[in-house]
Amino acid sequence: MERAISSTNLTPAEAEVFWEAVKARDAAWDGKFYFGVATTGVYCRPSCKCRLPLRKNVRFFGSAEEAEEEGLRACLRCRPLDDEAGPAKEVERIREVCDYIRNHARDSLPLASLAERAGLSPFHFQRSFKKNVGLTPRQFVEACRLGSLKEQLRSRPSVTDAIYEAGFGSGSRVYERVDTRLGMTPVEYRAGGKDVSISYVSVDSPLGRMMIGATDRGLCFVQFASGDGPLLRMLRAEYPAAKLQPMQEPYPDEFAQWMNALTEHLNGQRPRLDLPLDLQATAFQMKVWQYLQSIPYGSVRSYAEVAAGLGRPKAARAVARACATNRVALVIPCHRVIRGTGELAGYRWGIELKRVLLDTERRAAAHA
Ligand SMILES: [Zn+2]
Repeated sequence: MERAISSTNLTPAEAEVFWEAVKARDAAWDGKFYFGVATTGVYCRPSCKCRLPLRKNVRFFGSAEEAEEEGLRACLRCRPLDDEAGPAKEVERIREVCDYIRNHARDSLPLASLAERAGLSPFHFQRSFKKNVGLTPRQFVEACRLGSLKEQLRSRPSVTDAIYEAGFGSGSRVYERVDTRLGMTPVEYRAGGKDVSISYVSVDSPLGRMMIGATDRGLCFVQFASGDGPLLRMLRAEYPAAKLQPMQEPYPDEFAQWMNALTEHLNGQRPRLDLPLDLQATAFQMKVWQYLQSIPYGSVRSYAEVAAGLGRPKAARAVARACATNRVALVIPCHRVIRGTGELAGYRWGIELKRVLLDTERRAAAHA
């Protein structure tokens, strides 16, 4: 059903389908619609175990928000606001707390006071925050304290994006609804590199020309291409709003060390890459990338395994998307993620390169 569900534009046949779902207490419909009962003033999820109301007193709604606008109250039994399809108010509150944390990242931020700010019990807040943002409040606070995330998280859209990525299924009506309510498109979520200065240099590597870009806080770009021209274009495309400048020789010590480390890594001589990263990312991307860094050298995981490891077993596609947007090859080893079938799946820098990387790792790991 493409159009919004409301009691006024449902066809009788559609209403009949919904009514059958309510009678069957069919949980498969949860999140797809809600029903309100005129006589009690309460609205429910389709699967609610409450006493079946009379058909003539029932109206259907596409979201909990619409039901609330009609003056109905959330049922205490099926708790429709706890459903991730309908927590309009809760998401709004969590988003406001996210704003608050970003603006006060340096202050002490006890969980209890954040929960109070959200108007939720600490337990409910912790749970809802994790569900909607993909990180615990503590992790989110830490992320905001990292200079690396601050720029990105300062803009409200990225948090919305994080909420979307972490809290809602891809392509669902929920997402469209959230999107519309906030009045922005996914494209607008991703303005990158504003007010950032990036130095870059390109070198020969065992895998072709490699460009390394860094801010004064860490690496933000490691890419491969056939030549310097394409590499620079890729850098520009990744950080369109950033100030780009060639790294002047002699390179700063740290930068030279990073380059050496990467080259040794490519030669299979340095299994672990612990390089400081300066990345702009949504909370969910950051979480996936952190997880990827925990995959041991020489090992692989499937997208589904990564998703499960993150506690989000249904998020394999979102994981694949986060891998595809990795800007720092090798250091964030997205090449270690493969399809569940054992196929290599895509690799941003080409499937051949992925194969070579994995072969190098397996060989080096076998000889270690
Ligand atoms: Zn109910």
